[in-house]
Amino acid sequence: VLESELIERYFVGRGARRADVALGIGDDAAVLRVPRGAQLILTTDALVEGVHFLPRTAPRSLGHRALAVNLSDLAAMGADPSWMVLSLVLPESDAAWLRGFSASMNALARRERVALVGGNLSRGPLSITIALAGLAPHGAALRRDEARVGDDLYVSGTLGDAAAGLELLRRAARRATAGGASGAQLQLQRRFEYPSARVALGRALRGVASACIDVSDGLYVDAARLLRASGCGADLEIESVPLSRALRSVFGAQAVRFALTGGEDYELCFTAAPRHAVAVSRLGQRLGVRLTRIARVRRGSGLTLTGLDAKSVTQFSASLFDHFGSRPRRAPRHRSR
Ligand SMILES: [Mg+2]
Repeated sequence: VLESELIERYFVGRGARRADVALGIGDDAAVLRVPRGAQLILTTDALVEGVHFLPRTAPRSLGHRALAVNLSDLAAMGADPSWMVLSLVLPESDAAWLRGFSASMNALARRERVALVGGNLSRGPLSITIALAGLAPHGAALRRDEARVGDDLYVSGTLGDAAAGLELLRRAARRATAGGASGAQLQLQRRFEYPSARVALGRALRGVASACIDVSDGLYVDAARLLRASGCGADLEIESVPLSRALRSVFGAQAVRFALTGGEDYELCFTAAPRHAVAVSRLGQRLGVRLTRIARVRRGSGLTLTGLDAKSVTQFSASLFDHFGSRPRRAPRHRSR
């Protein structure tokens, strides 16, 4: 089957329809209308088998995640997602795989009003690369380098669930058995397989947040990135980190380690001046998203953990190190900074 036929069959016209696409799939490149007064915001992220996902992962999960991880980067910028191009490398043209993959990707694209405007299929080891573009009013995009001393540091949702879910999926793969997972375990696995990007929250934070980043590599690492970029520091009270009931019930005392060091949550970590505290809590209520204040931005540098005794801090630092060292999917990841 020809590449163009596969693209036609599974992808053309299946995402959102947008009036600002002057020329979509079918020519050498797409032609898009950027509205006057808007800025184009562009990101890309790749998923590589064995690096970012386990072999034999369900194609439905991959189609969803490949787009969701890019949506999360645009959410962190406060952008409205608009257009995407897809580059798919497949070992073979497998109709069932393509059906599952495209169904979930296209469904998420329609929900977030993203049009697929270009695609490329080639043969090779399985990998999925999406470039996603979005729009924001001129100068309104959220950045990670504009937190100010005295701002509150918040995080959305609950943390650690996706990493815990991945750990459960790994254990299940080692045992090579299906079934037997509890409701809480399935909930954690779902957060890894079908993450939701905080697009509406990012958009609502324009004009409210002073800085923003998405939690893709773990709260500890990503919050520290935001602070470093902004030239500030913060003391993080560990007790204040929001944990789900599912995570606490399955992992008990380990829950906090997943919450601080586990990646793939795709929540937003952001700062806002104290005068916006009411606005922040109102928009959390309006969107039905839990927003938790976890620290106050201070002078200095780095993210210090408080609420642990000295011994636990040492253990925690060691586990941070182990965690990254033992995880092959971290190292080869190239993300825009
Ligand atoms: Mg990011």
